[in-house]
Amino acid sequence: MADTALYFMHDDALRYRFNADHPFDQRRLVMTNDLLTRIGALSDDIIVRPATGMADWEAWIRYIHREDYIEAVKRLSEAAPAEEWVARSDQYGLHTEDTPYFTGMHQAASAIVGGSVAACEAVMNGRSVHALHLGGGLHHAFSEKGAGFCVYNDASVAISWLRRHYNARILYIDTDVHHGDGVQWSFYTDPNVFTYSIHETGKFLFPGTGFVNERGAGEGFGACVNVPLEPYTEDESWLHCFEETIGQVARSFRPDIIISQHGCDAHAFDPLSHMHCSMRIYAEMPKMIHRLAHASCEGRWVALGGGGYDIWRVVPRAWSMLWLEMSEHPLKDELVRQPLTPLPEAWIARWSGEAPVPLPSTWLDDVARWAPMPRRSIIEAKNEQVKELALEYVR
Ligand SMILES: [Zn+2]
Ligand SMILES: [Zn+2]
Repeated sequence: MADTALYFMHDDALRYRFNADHPFDQRRLVMTNDLLTRIGALSDDIIVRPATGMADWEAWIRYIHREDYIEAVKRLSEAAPAEEWVARSDQYGLHTEDTPYFTGMHQAASAIVGGSVAACEAVMNGRSVHALHLGGGLHHAFSEKGAGFCVYNDASVAISWLRRHYNARILYIDTDVHHGDGVQWSFYTDPNVFTYSIHETGKFLFPGTGFVNERGAGEGFGACVNVPLEPYTEDESWLHCFEETIGQVARSFRPDIIISQHGCDAHAFDPLSHMHCSMRIYAEMPKMIHRLAHASCEGRWVALGGGGYDIWRVVPRAWSMLWLEMSEHPLKDELVRQPLTPLPEAWIARWSGEAPVPLPSTWLDDVARWAPMPRRSIIEAKNEQVKELALEYVR
């Protein structure tokens, strides 16, 4: 029998929207839900809407975020924020092109925190073995400021919640193309929280950190691993570096629970990065994490969303495949045999009118039709070197 898996979502997360032109677009959640519903992989009895409310969420947010920052987020959430707070918005990182304040942001960002904590609670209290919260994964927010499209760091809050309520050892696995900096710095000195991030090197991409020599500090030294890959990295090299490093990390750390972040912006189509991966990594990487969860912590696994800016061609497929893996839907095995299995025609028809690009017709990409990447062997050799360096202190 398949392990139980629950799908968390809060409708307020759909209101997390900076402005009409911003690349962070929650229609990706609606499209994912629609795709999963059409293939019969998601139904109302599996979807959990967190029962907690603002009082709990604010208490948890204080585990990570500074009081004056929370106050600023609240004030700037008002329809017509007071001039005094608008003047201070810059110091809190909320007056930038990336992360501008918006009406209702406190409610929307808090509901996202509530979803991620609820997913962790369900797994720790045994209600389900796996839990998915695609609204979460806002990994760039800091204690005292917003950054990189992130207002509250739901991943950090959820990890802190697990530390306080269960004294759990947490392995955080960040597969977003951007370094999971907010989570890393929140737990940099904590030996009970291992932060792992695989991403495009900060030499060329926001936030400009996540180098191999960031390994934690004080008692937390060694409980932080970064695998910064070269621009234009392709599937084979990405998967190889991921499997070898995360396997060794999980064996060495022996977590009580795995929390993974699934930004899917390392895909070649993503407009905000320079990686050249295909849908294949989003089919295979969840399988690896799933296996590790069963091998190292009795299956306890919470998966969160994250970045992903080709909302038409990449995010719905990637996040749906994550759920197929967690819920052990038979289609996941079918996709191993037949990667070019067609997507439901009704889903394509539903979204084609809105999409500015032709929607894909198959679950995985037909990479045989992609142009070969120049410098492939140089890129692979550099990644191999980084992989070895990243593991230097993992015993
Ligand atoms: Zn399982
Ligand atoms: Zn990202």
